Amino acid sequence: MKLEKVLIANRGEIALRILRACRQLGLKTVAVHSTADRDLMHVKLADESICIGPAAPKDSYLNIPSIIAAAESCGASAIHPGYGFLSESADFAEMVEKSGFIFIGPTADTIRLMGDKVSAKKAMQRSGVPCVPGSAGALGDDPEENKKLAAKIGYPIIIKAAGGGGGRGMRVVRNEAELEESIALTRREADMFFNNPSVYMEKFLENPRHVEFQVLSDGMGHAVYLGERDCSMQRRNQKVLEEAPAPFISAEQRKNIGSRCAKACEEIGYRGAGTFEFLYENGEFYFIEMNTRVQVEHPITEMITGVDIVREMISVCAGNPLSIKQSDVKLRGHAFECRINAEDPKTFIPSPGTISMLHVPGGPGVRWDSHVYQGYKVPPYYDSLVGKLIIHDDTRELARLRALEALDELVLDGIKTNIPLHKALLTDPAEIKGGVSIHYLEHKLESEAAKDPA
Ligand code: ADP
Repeated sequence: MKLEKVLIANRGEIALRILRACRQLGLKTVAVHSTADRDLMHVKLADESICIGPAAPKDSYLNIPSIIAAAESCGASAIHPGYGFLSESADFAEMVEKSGFIFIGPTADTIRLMGDKVSAKKAMQRSGVPCVPGSAGALGDDPEENKKLAAKIGYPIIIKAAGGGGGRGMRVVRNEAELEESIALTRREADMFFNNPSVYMEKFLENPRHVEFQVLSDGMGHAVYLGERDCSMQRRNQKVLEEAPAPFISAEQRKNIGSRCAKACEEIGYRGAGTFEFLYENGEFYFIEMNTRVQVEHPITEMITGVDIVREMISVCAGNPLSIKQSDVKLRGHAFECRINAEDPKTFIPSPGTISMLHVPGGPGVRWDSHVYQGYKVPPYYDSLVGKLIIHDDTRELARLRALEALDELVLDGIKTNIPLHKALLTDPAEIKGGVSIHYLEHKLESEAAKDPA
């Protein structure tokens, strides 16, 4: 099918980001939205808009029949799922393609392969992507076998659900006495939450960093990697501040891991944009999972490579070859992304409401990806992300200083935001040095709460 009209099955900043890419490619756009989202910026800008249901995500942005019906009624040729919501639902991808639309992402089979962590890990191992040492596949029921396996890997280990996601369905085991019980508990949870009792075992890494590689692949055997990002600054498995490239990763490491990721994409016939997530500890990379969609933090990679990831993913999913070769990809400078959330900077309680005053910073190397405008009412039903402040400069230190300047200029009145947290992070000595572990932010917040209980 020829790509002419794209239905954007998402909301907020990513819906607007997709709309902009479509416009540039000369494609018509259709916004689908819930009753709570009539005032979203991309709904106003789209060529057409269709209300697909009430505010609750399950009734609108997760409502597959409603979205397919909207695509049929407006004559869309493709559906872009964005991130979150249905973006990693193999059933949705399958329904989209069966209904005769292009899914802007990989095939349903690829999403299924990567959605099951056991099969994903096996596919990665076959392609030479380094993985966390662990069980060869799903664990069996023989306690003695499992004990032997754990002893061989070495405690602490982690039991993980093959179908797990969102940081759920995982349990750390520190010694043999806890092993059997932990496997049984994780199995039960996995069955309950993910409808799949299969669990596996991995070495538990105590203090890793989160380093991820961005890839683009055309589904016809050609893939490129666009370097890596460091997303270690997290709270409750949610990324807060990201940067690219990752500090202290050598060009040689980048090439070694990146080319393996690209090769894996070529081997599985991957189509679209994707991310290989790794834990990084003591100079080694360990694959944990692949995200088969565009990510929130994709702009920092765009800033250092000059590649428009969203435009490229739409183009390859429409059947075009990649517009770039690996030798075209050159990294330039350093970028940070501050996720600006409508939340209390200390308690993290969401702070929906009307933005009474908005002032956005500017100048060279300053990018603001956001759907909000002055007078916009942040609804209470969805993710609290109100904008992404993306900063680029020649060096990490210059980018950090530029980010602080931009945060000083950014005004979002009427709601509480985590701007103060970002200022604190970008002046934190460990962050200035770079390379903090995934536990750094939680530990920092705990020690500050202990000092200042009020
Ligand atoms: P999910 O799909 O639920 O996000 P992941 O496999 O990506 O699950 O793991 C989520 C987080 O759990 C990781 O970012 C990391 O913090 C932690 N984690 C997962 N596996 C390990 C491991 N082997 N060692 C240490 N931490 C781990």
